Amino acid sequence: AVDGAHRMRRLILDLLAYSRIEKTGNEHETVDFNQLLAEIKLTFEPEIKKLKAEVTGDSLPVVRGPSSFYFLLLQNLIGNALKYTKPGVPPQIHLGVEDCQREWQFHLKDNGIGIDPAYFEKIFVLFQRLHHREAYEGTGIGLAIVKKIVTNLGGSIWVASNPGDGTVFYFTLPKNDSPEEGQPLLRT
Ligand code: ATP
Ligand code: MG
Repeated sequence: AVDGAHRMRRLILDLLAYSRIEKTGNEHETVDFNQLLAEIKLTFEPEIKKLKAEVTGDSLPVVRGPSSFYFLLLQNLIGNALKYTKPGVPPQIHLGVEDCQREWQFHLKDNGIGIDPAYFEKIFVLFQRLHHREAYEGTGIGLAIVKKIVTNLGGSIWVASNPGDGTVFYFTLPKNDSPEEGQPLLRT
């Protein structure tokens, strides 16, 4: 009964978080991904010791938008990577980012059970799950939250996987350009 109450509480809180994601006027708030990652790691102690942030370039970027969005985004993706593991195989997670001119392209790679390509679209839909309910607990809200956040921030998200051999989630985020820098350049 305690377990059921706990699950119901999680469900309600997750749905609330989902419903609260909207385009906000918070564009002046900036978020440093390095700091964000450090904070998220604390919420996953001690499993998270395995997480390596491999970075292309100097460091993870600073982006614009509400910090609560970025926190939920990374927390859900990393939470899944730590949950959908193969029995007896310790999780390994890599977070990377590439500079793609007008946007950052992130990838979060795990060594877990993988996802059948037939489900690549469905997993982002509210309440859609595919792995055995008994083996992996969840309600199917996490990736719907993630997709709604990325979309509202002006980015996109997709997934690649070989079933049984890990998953990579890709997502893009627009660059943290100041309005001046965003002006078109006149080239001569
Ligand atoms: P919740 O996140 O709400 O607790 P959940 O983890 O089941 O529940 P989502 O995070 O939305 O829901 O994920 C949807 C489904 O996608 C999962 O049930 C799982 O089958 C699959 N999935 C998500 N991430 C991974 C991953 N890293 N590896 C393998 N399967 C995954
Ligand atoms: Mg999840």
